[in-house]
Amino acid sequence: MKVNNAEIVISAVSQKQYPGDRLPEIALAGRSNVGKSSFINKLINRKNLARTSSKPGKTQTLNFYKINDVFYFVDVPGYGYAKVSKKEREKWGVMMEEYFETRETLKAVLLITDIRHEPTNDDIQMYHFLKHYDLRVIIVATKLDKVPKNKRASHVKRTKKALEMDEEDHLLPFSSETGEGKEEAWRLLSQYI
Ligand code: GDP
Repeated sequence: MKVNNAEIVISAVSQKQYPGDRLPEIALAGRSNVGKSSFINKLINRKNLARTSSKPGKTQTLNFYKINDVFYFVDVPGYGYAKVSKKEREKWGVMMEEYFETRETLKAVLLITDIRHEPTNDDIQMYHFLKHYDLRVIIVATKLDKVPKNKRASHVKRTKKALEMDEEDHLLPFSSETGEGKEEAWRLLSQYI
């Protein structure tokens, strides 16, 4: 998709603030610092529409980015940051459930992982949480540029195995640095938007 227009519509903390125009939504989840904002920015050809490296302690919000008046990217606050308080973590959980359990316009979730490393327990939990709600999940294994070509296949395999990925789900190797995987990402997303 050629993105002509991308704008943040709302940073929502609860359901009543979600957009009401019923456009399809693609959510993005991932560990803090995994490369989620870089992924969004790369796909929409913007340097920093999605804030990169958002620090914990800031208000955790669901950020709705309207793309070409066709669909939304919904940036879900990152997880797995050790310094977050128990109260913050609980608030995050409530927000996740509220969104993932009830959102009818949510078509698929991109779960961003770091292809260099084995998925963390938080990644594994997040994947199963999403599957529990019967959501279509695409794993985006980013930072591909950091893994030598001859090691990539084994890193992909390791990720699939650790997540116990469903056959029907896709894993997309990706790099925000080089743009590898970008066309395939749009191809996969076009099924949902
Ligand atoms: P977020 O917290 O998940 O939104 O992560 P960011 O997008 O802010 O990225 C965290 C750090 O990883 C930044 O320093 C990015 O420049 C870097 N980064 C993100 N994606 C890639 C990638 O594909 N390749 C490389 N080499 N670095 C990346």
